[in-house]
Amino acid sequence: MADLQTSIPDGSLDALFDGYRRFRKEAWPDLQRRFETLAEGQAPKVLVIGCSDSRVDPQQILGAGPGELFVLRNVAALAPPYAPDQSHHAASAAIEYAVRVLKVERIVVLAHAGCGGVKALFDGAPPEAFDFVVAWVNMASRARKAVDPALAGAERQRAAEEAVAGVAIENLMTFPWIAERVAEGSLALTGMHFGVADGCLRCRGQDGFWADVPTA
Ligand SMILES: [Zn+2]
Repeated sequence: MADLQTSIPDGSLDALFDGYRRFRKEAWPDLQRRFETLAEGQAPKVLVIGCSDSRVDPQQILGAGPGELFVLRNVAALAPPYAPDQSHHAASAAIEYAVRVLKVERIVVLAHAGCGGVKALFDGAPPEAFDFVVAWVNMASRARKAVDPALAGAERQRAAEEAVAGVAIENLMTFPWIAERVAEGSLALTGMHFGVADGCLRCRGQDGFWADVPTA
């Protein structure tokens, strides 16, 4: 099959087709019935807001199958504040669909270790990323105040990632139909953080403190 960008070698396309063939050979036989049922419609109970980072697939980390998670991924796993207008609000559109149409019961904000978006917020964005990335991550600029200035290195990075997840949750609460459902007890908001190198998942408790999720 021809690639429209003919100057690019076909290697990356071949890898995608190889992956598809592995999926059809290895996974599809077990999943076919589930997909046939899901073709009738989806009813996921959880919206995950994760980072676009290639290392942190929410479905893989949370062991979910098709139809179980409604996933929004963007730079730094952010949720913007409620701002209804005629602009192109990709994140808010996904949030509205999940909460108001699918009526999910939980929203998980899944932060992760080594997040380039959070690093851009705290240390500055790469010069090539100024059209959109800077304005996008700056929506969480108040997270800077939440990080202990005495922290450094990996400790500061993780504190920053957790603080940005906290801002995303605060922003979600500015959506009136989210705040209403949280108040009536039909929707819960949860922060999580995945440590890429160690595979460790941490979860933000109601008290705002983060703790490891036991593996067994
Ligand atoms: Zn990230």
